[in-house]
Amino acid sequence: MKALYFENRLSKVMLLKVAERFSRYAALGPFSPLRYAEVPEPTLPNARWLKVRNLCCGLCGTDIHFMFMEMDPKCFTAAIPGVKRKFLGHEVVSEVVEVGKEVDGIAVGDRVAMRIDWPSCFQLEIDPPCPQCAQGNYMLCENLGLGELPVENPGGGFSPYMVLHRTQPFTIPAALSNDAAVLLEPLASAVHGVLKARPRPEDHVLVVGGGTLGLLTVTALRGLVPESQVHCLTRYPFQARVAEKLGAAVIPEGPDVYKKMAEASGGRSITGYFRNEILLGGFDVVYDTVGNDHSLHHALRWAKGGGTVVLMGINWKPGKMDYSPVWSQEVNLIGINCHATESDGRTSFEIAAQLLLSGCLEPEDIITHRFPVSRYKEAVRTFFDKRNSQAIKIVLDHLQFQECS
Ligand SMILES: [Zn+2]
Ligand SMILES: [Zn+2]
Repeated sequence: MKALYFENRLSKVMLLKVAERFSRYAALGPFSPLRYAEVPEPTLPNARWLKVRNLCCGLCGTDIHFMFMEMDPKCFTAAIPGVKRKFLGHEVVSEVVEVGKEVDGIAVGDRVAMRIDWPSCFQLEIDPPCPQCAQGNYMLCENLGLGELPVENPGGGFSPYMVLHRTQPFTIPAALSNDAAVLLEPLASAVHGVLKARPRPEDHVLVVGGGTLGLLTVTALRGLVPESQVHCLTRYPFQARVAEKLGAAVIPEGPDVYKKMAEASGGRSITGYFRNEILLGGFDVVYDTVGNDHSLHHALRWAKGGGTVVLMGINWKPGKMDYSPVWSQEVNLIGINCHATESDGRTSFEIAAQLLLSGCLEPEDIITHRFPVSRYKEAVRTFFDKRNSQAIKIVLDHLQFQECS
């Protein structure tokens, strides 16, 4: 089968870094660890695994980070032992085609999403599991790198077939369309972020970013805390339109953004020397779904004293920013890594599925583009050219089987 994957070898990564000096899209060229190539179709390694064929899969910012190897070797996550070959695509909708004898509750023909992606105590069958996995926090597994999967080429969402350990899938409710289901994983992340710092009904809330994660965070907030006043900072008018439709008051990026933030939060904007702008009495909770130096620098200034900033956007570059609001305003800075099991014992996926079943959004407002997997390069260019393409969520379809709709 032909699969999209990333070869995790330092020599390949170094070669790409050199090639990138000459071309922005070197990652899509021959000097790249990114491969769209034939690999053996996976088979069940034992009775506790199942095989699925993939219908469609969302293209996520983290897939792009991997494709372009935007991971500084000095960042925390770069030191965690990784997999030698990373199959890309995790926002996947799949149909079960084969089930091992020791897999309960899943049958051939069921539709599933991938809940647990990175190897953890679950897939590695480490018994007893680490304290984090025991609580369902599989993304925080303390045994990362302490074992190998029993299958060399498991495949990913951008492969036609994939094998999963019985602990990995989430069964998609029958009433959800494939389009709604492809949003399960990013919505589960949004749910996890919101529940990390659940606002009180009277709180002023700000979502930084109008991309998929930002818009789904607005969705999760409206669904989980309907009384809260949600504001959303957007860059482009097409993002603002969707944010508004989802129930947020939009604040467009621009030179007077601190004044608008003050009005929206009831705080006061102050400008010091060298255009050093701050807010006193800002938002109770700020969700930074962009997650770079620039967005976090401002997110910390837009939170009020004692308020909370949830870092949700993913970035693998150690940066430079002013963290003085954390001590000077006692702002709580917390983060999330995808999804987990929430404090009420439900998984982020279960809550996300319930939100989608309630009709919290129309998938076609978020899914703006689709490409067959074989045209992934076009999809990547569309992702980078948001200003013109007006892309929000791009979905790759496995057309050889059926249109995903
Ligand atoms: Zn994702
Ligand atoms: Zn673990």
